[in-house]
Amino acid sequence: MHVLVLGGTEEGRRLAGELGAVPGVRVTSSLAGRVAGGAVPPGAVRVGGFGGAAGLAVWLDAHRVDAVVDATHPFAAEISGNAVRAAREAGVPLLAVRRPGWRAGPGDTWVDTDSHEHAAAVVPSLGARVFLSVGRQPLAAFAGVDACWFLVRAVTPPSPPLPRHREVVLARGPFTVAGERELLARWGVRVVVTKDSGGAATAAKLTAARELGLPVVVVRRPPLPSGVRAVPDVPAAVAWLRGLPR
Ligand code: NAP
Repeated sequence: MHVLVLGGTEEGRRLAGELGAVPGVRVTSSLAGRVAGGAVPPGAVRVGGFGGAAGLAVWLDAHRVDAVVDATHPFAAEISGNAVRAAREAGVPLLAVRRPGWRAGPGDTWVDTDSHEHAAAVVPSLGARVFLSVGRQPLAAFAGVDACWFLVRAVTPPSPPLPRHREVVLARGPFTVAGERELLARWGVRVVVTKDSGGAATAAKLTAARELGLPVVVVRRPPLPSGVRAVPDVPAAVAWLRGLPR
């Protein structure tokens, strides 16, 4: 059984490792290849886009793929949509692994938004010094917010357009609560902006914000494409694959 894991996440790496140990299963992991230096999944890896849904469907056929697991990041909406169309066209079963989103707890002051543009519109009313922890791609949405100063954190140097008043720090998670608290205090941050990535690796900033009494603007996830079966974690994905006819 040949399984294609669309990865670029911790779940994708773990899934490739676990499936690689299942007798009779062969795994290929796929990465977009935009961020250098990340942890590479065990086993066979291919890198780069497929050329849209049609290209992915051709790839599935040419490589005799028996099942696809979309273990991409919850905000990687384009590849997830392509996976649905390609799997349908190629007649291959598809499963999505989506770690649960973050939920506010006692002591949290969260403002939910449905896009980065929406987040950019509400930020100035919450504070003038902003920790922007949304990754590289959505930074353009904040480029016109001249009323605020931004502490921008990304794994690799972001490209313009960027907010005019800013400091960029390059760092790769996981992060600790103590480290995040120190970062927020050192830069005098008054409001945190994050996308709802979920998971533990980047959740420490939420605890630090709560401890410092800071509001957090949360950009909620794009919806999964309709009709996709989704599970919350790697063990459930392994169980689904084990249950497929061989
Ligand atoms: P995206 O906007 O959904 O996808 C844009 C295009 O990149 C896709 O149409 C596809 O090109 C290519 N692509 C994306 N993921 C791919 C994969 N795993 N294998 C092969 N091609 C892929 O994706 P994105 O948000 O830029 O994310 C890119 C990668 O980074 C994903 O693997 C994702 O899991 C990871 N990541 C994303 C985020 C985030 O916040 N978005 C955070 C952490 C990790 P073609 O149309 O040419 O096939």
